[in-house]
Amino acid sequence: MRKQIAAANWKMNLTLQQGEALLDGILGKVSAPGSNQQVIFAVPFPYLASAQQKIAGKQQVFIAAQNCYNKKAGAYTGETSVEMLQSLGIQWVVLGHSERREYFGESDQFLAEKVNIVLETGLQPIFCCGEPLQIREQNTQNDYVGAQLKASLYHLSAEQVQKVVIAYEPIWAIGTGKTATSAQAQEMHAFIRAELAKQYGAEVANNISILYGGSVKAANAQEIFGQPDVDGGLVGGASLVVDEFVAIIEALK
Ligand code: 13P
Repeated sequence: MRKQIAAANWKMNLTLQQGEALLDGILGKVSAPGSNQQVIFAVPFPYLASAQQKIAGKQQVFIAAQNCYNKKAGAYTGETSVEMLQSLGIQWVVLGHSERREYFGESDQFLAEKVNIVLETGLQPIFCCGEPLQIREQNTQNDYVGAQLKASLYHLSAEQVQKVVIAYEPIWAIGTGKTATSAQAQEMHAFIRAELAKQYGAEVANNISILYGGSVKAANAQEIFGQPDVDGGLVGGASLVVDEFVAIIEALK
C-alpha cells in the first residue's frame, strides 16, 4: 500500500527560532501518524540539523532538504551534496519545484541527474511537476506533465521509480489561494498514474505516492486528499501555521 504523505515546504521563510517554534508546535499537537502515513518537513538548509534533532525518535516523521546538487563533491562553491544531507540523517530531498525551474533555470535533464544522485546515495526524492496557467488554458496539461515525467524519471528502473514520490503542483495554484478543484487534481493524478503504469506496469504505479500541491489548507485538505489517486499534499503557506498544518496532517487518508 502506498504511503499517504503530508509534506511541508517552508520555502525561504522563517528564522531559526521561528522554525523551531513551528516544529515544536506541530509535533506537540499532532497525533502520531498511522503506519501508512508520513509527515515530512522540507526546511531551509541552515535548519536541517536542528530540525533533524527535533524529530529524532518520532515514527513516520522526516526532514527533507528543498534541493541538492547533481554532483557528489568538489569545487562547487555554495552548493549542497546529497552525501552532506545523508551525514545529517536526512532521508528526503524535494527536487524540481517550479520555483527552482523558473528562477534557477533547472532543466529536466539537470533534474534527471539530481534524481539519480539522490537515489544512488539511498535518499528519496519528492519530484515536483506541474503546468503553468497558459498550458492549462490550452488544455494541454497532460502532454506537458507527461513530458516532465518522461524526461526526468523514465530512465529509472522499476525498483528505483518506486522510491520516488511525485508532487503534482499546478503553477497557477501555487501561493495564489486558487486550488485546483478536487476533480482537476484527481484527473491529473489518475493520468500520472496511468502514464507510470504504461511505463512500469500497474503494480509499480500503484505503489507510487502522488501528492497534490497548490494552496492546500485545512479547509480543503480533506476534500482533495479524499480523491482516490491523491496520496496527500505538498504544502507551502499553510505549513507555516501550526493549526493549519496539524489539520492537514489529520486530513490524510
Ligand atoms: P502553497 O501551498 O503556498 O500554494 O505552495 C505550494 C507549494 O509550492 C508547495 O511546494
